[in-house]
Amino acid sequence: MVIRYNKYKMKLNRKIFREYDIRAVYEEDLKGDLPYYLGKGFGTFVKRSGRKNVCIGGDNRSTTPEIKDKLIKGILKTGCEVTDTEIVPTPVLYFALHNYGFDAGLMVTASHNPPEFNGVKMVVGNKSLYGKDIQNLADIIEKEDFETGKGQYLKKNVTPDYLRFMLGQFKFKKKLKVAIDTGNGTLGPTIVPLFEKLGIDFIPLYTDSDPTFPNHLPDPVVPENLKDLMKTVIDNKLDIGLGYDGDGDRLGVIDEKGSIMWGDMLLIIYAHEILQKSPGAKVVFDVKCSRALEEEIEKSGGIPIMWKTGHSLIEDKMHQENAPLGGELSGHLYFADNYYGFDDAVYASLRLLQILDSTGKKTSSLLEGVKRYHSTPEIRIEVPDEKKFAIVEDLKNLFTGKNNRISDIDGVKVFFPDGWALVRASNTQPALVVRVEAEDSDSLKKIREMFLATIDRFL
Ligand SMILES: [Zn+2]
Repeated sequence: MVIRYNKYKMKLNRKIFREYDIRAVYEEDLKGDLPYYLGKGFGTFVKRSGRKNVCIGGDNRSTTPEIKDKLIKGILKTGCEVTDTEIVPTPVLYFALHNYGFDAGLMVTASHNPPEFNGVKMVVGNKSLYGKDIQNLADIIEKEDFETGKGQYLKKNVTPDYLRFMLGQFKFKKKLKVAIDTGNGTLGPTIVPLFEKLGIDFIPLYTDSDPTFPNHLPDPVVPENLKDLMKTVIDNKLDIGLGYDGDGDRLGVIDEKGSIMWGDMLLIIYAHEILQKSPGAKVVFDVKCSRALEEEIEKSGGIPIMWKTGHSLIEDKMHQENAPLGGELSGHLYFADNYYGFDDAVYASLRLLQILDSTGKKTSSLLEGVKRYHSTPEIRIEVPDEKKFAIVEDLKNLFTGKNNRISDIDGVKVFFPDGWALVRASNTQPALVVRVEAEDSDSLKKIREMFLATIDRFL
């Protein structure tokens, strides 16, 4: 059937309905009527799950207000109520969902992607939509099988309650010296007053909202984007540098020596703290994380649970396993001990400052005694979306046939006596993502070369 979702009668591009969110180039797939139909589809989905109160927010991108308005119109047509929180970082929207008990939430954002992108993250009943649910939503839109009704529209400024909550959670005895870099993303206008009120001595970098991202892309796991933060920490002899992604749900940390601390190393620090209070607790982390994380969780008497990469998936696994802590190499960090269990980089960074404050240690010495493995950064190999999953499947069969111990939780992780290699299909880009870790640099080189040469044969 011909899909009438926009005046050009183009077919619905199913590719933008990804594993755990919707993401697209605005001009290609989000311009026109799609967001309106997406709103109708989402409202229908919400209503059919027996719910009706939706809250919505959006990041600081120039295309966000238009997309958000169309989504709202669509949702209202299904009879759902919509509360508009306007421009907020993703964790503030999630906070609103939990704090006021909304039934569902929508966040218009393309996180760290370049300015031409935008997208939507969706939550229904405190669970982020992913996988099949997102495909079901696409089916509803494709069939134009919408609920009808007349919903009510409300506005709510949720930031004051968010700030109050954080102020109630954190108190610092010492004057920590900090730099923060929000990459001209959405977080600046929220985090600056919060850090001021908390009495933190901080140097702000690129905290003005500017959706052209004139200084660097707001992605704190790309070392290039952390250069200015590193320099600021070193030049000013600061205790720590905190980098945030465009919508505020991922954290990148620079220690006092100017070195990057990746998500898995941060998880070790949090795990040590939480496992002291809750012995035997579970910690959920994604397949990309270092072996050192597993070892440290076990040493501290916790239960390590390796899981799939992707914020919705980690969050879901934490619920299932009743884990107080979870995280990903990419800097998504989830706390469910004293918080709501979603990825809030502001909350995560304050937890880290609290550990520095209470232990009196230097940032780098929080990882003293932790075995350091050698690893590659994420290696991205461009592969068309249509081919990437089949290649991973072929590689899985190949390594299984060679009698290697493998894990196929997410992509293929192949274990060797002196390290491991992982290849998985990216959920957000037409690419394969490879990461290798080993005991020493020679083993790393050996495994890396062998693994990449093997992948090359399938491209
Ligand atoms: Zn993000």
